[in-house]
Amino acid sequence: MKISAIKAFPSRIGASSQLLLKIESDTGYYGWGASGLTSREMAVSGAIDHFRPWLIGKDPRSIGSIWQELYRSQYFEGGRVLAAAQSAIDIALYDLKAKALGIPVYELLGGRQRDWVECFASLPFGNTLQLIERAESLLSAGFTCLRLTYVNEQTMGDAKTTFDPRKNIAAVAKSIVALRQHVGQEPTLGFDYHHRLTTPETVSFLHRMPIGTLDFLEEPIRCEDPKAYATLRQLVDVPFAIGEEFASKWQFLPFLENGLTQFARVDVCNVGGLTESMKVAALAEAHYIDLMPHNPLGPICAAATIHLAAACSNVSWLEEVNTPIQDLGLCDPKIFPLQPRREQNRYPISDTPGLGIEVDEDALANQTFTPIEVPHFKRADGSVTNW
Ligand SMILES: [Mg+2]
Repeated sequence: MKISAIKAFPSRIGASSQLLLKIESDTGYYGWGASGLTSREMAVSGAIDHFRPWLIGKDPRSIGSIWQELYRSQYFEGGRVLAAAQSAIDIALYDLKAKALGIPVYELLGGRQRDWVECFASLPFGNTLQLIERAESLLSAGFTCLRLTYVNEQTMGDAKTTFDPRKNIAAVAKSIVALRQHVGQEPTLGFDYHHRLTTPETVSFLHRMPIGTLDFLEEPIRCEDPKAYATLRQLVDVPFAIGEEFASKWQFLPFLENGLTQFARVDVCNVGGLTESMKVAALAEAHYIDLMPHNPLGPICAAATIHLAAACSNVSWLEEVNTPIQDLGLCDPKIFPLQPRREQNRYPISDTPGLGIEVDEDALANQTFTPIEVPHFKRADGSVTNW
């Protein structure tokens, strides 16, 4: 069997952009993958252009060898753009190989270890009333774990958006305390700060809430420096959920080895595909750390992550952004006629050969692509801060 074509589809789907990838073989079997570098799809598509010429003609079943060659057969190893391209290729190879063998992808990863994958619901909110209403809706829909994010919806998409961290931590902490009082002790509550804070701002934020209010905090500060997280880890006691931006097992390593994160937010479409995700899962398992997979893209990311979670023992919750309170259109059934179907707060494990995904290639091919641009946040004095 030989790879005969590699097609990249930078696409606008619903409220976001995605880069989908199709790998075809000379036997007629094909596979789909996706890259996770949202809003920079053209850079990833360019990386795929670099890889395509020497991938054509290779045996698509040699997934591990192709992973090593993609990563190491260039002087400049790794980085987020190349790893995102590599992720899409790796996932597509798993889909293709599993289809050719007539088995679901999880069988290539060691077989299934669970009957379903439980999800947390993403809950964006702008004020306390909205937070409580949306939480009630999600809890009544069957979710037991809610991951909150603060979104000032009036300013989303505005390139001049101002973010004042001190005002924000005061308002958000007050809202979360009110939510915990409202929903009681049973639901699991997390919050994602999208790396917008500094270390002292994070301490102030968490100290404004009683112990037991928040069960985990996602990305309070930027992730480049593990030592900054080591400092922060000593100052607060709420578990961290870090890693959705990491583009290799090596980026996870100091966070896992030194106890700097208590959940591994692996992103199968950014870290290096299923091949690298399984290695991250093994490193995390060695430290009794559960995966909490990042899953913001669409059905291919979701399907690949469900197969990963099916084959790993150490999984907490899979991220779910498509919920009764939020329809971003990322799973458009006209583009994805076959895709994972959530039942309440869980995804059943599909036994369909491959990922269990089908894509309408014609619907993608006819698009004029314009990538999204996320808000460019400034502090009140005009200085740049993270979105
Ligand atoms: Mg996050």
